[in-house]
Amino acid sequence: MSENTAIPLIMDEIIEKIKNCQKCPLYKTRHNTVPGDGKYNSPVMFIGEAPGEVEDLQGKPFVGKAGQLFTKILQSVQINREDIFITNMLKCRPPGNRNPSKSEVDICMPYLESQIALINPRIIVTLGNIPTKYLLKSKDGITKVRGQWFDWIGKIRIFPMFHPSYLLRHEETTPGSPKELTWRDIRELKKEIDQMAG
Ligand code: URA
Repeated sequence: MSENTAIPLIMDEIIEKIKNCQKCPLYKTRHNTVPGDGKYNSPVMFIGEAPGEVEDLQGKPFVGKAGQLFTKILQSVQINREDIFITNMLKCRPPGNRNPSKSEVDICMPYLESQIALINPRIIVTLGNIPTKYLLKSKDGITKVRGQWFDWIGKIRIFPMFHPSYLLRHEETTPGSPKELTWRDIRELKKEIDQMAG
């Protein structure tokens, strides 16, 4: 079996483990787990915080209001969701969309780590403060670090961007606004993706 044919099988195993997970109390309130979606050998992985209400009901990441905006941002530079991999730090919805607790993140992290190891992306885009601070082990907030490249593990670089939910709360598009900065960031990301594709 070639390396490429093994990837879907291993990802299926990870997804199966996530679906049966009862390692933290969130399994009691979830409707569905949200393991992640997209291309398993994508050079780019997007990591959000945790599923919201619509994601919990559908079992898919970024399909609610914030997800629709996220899809639009990608489409603005011709990035198709099917060509990238999208997941979250937590695979289950925290009730009422509260922030994930530290212990929930610590318990859930091995799933994300396995997905990163398997996909082995060149770029991880962290969406918002929670995944950014966790992966970069930094106290710097998203406003300070967004739009910058950070060397991470091996050949992987991290590119933090604002979370789409934050953009929904900041509608303005004036120069320097979160939305305008995000449109700059996505163009920078696209430039790097195109360069990698050669
Ligand atoms: N917010 C996230 O961080 N992830 C989702 O999947 C949806 C909303």
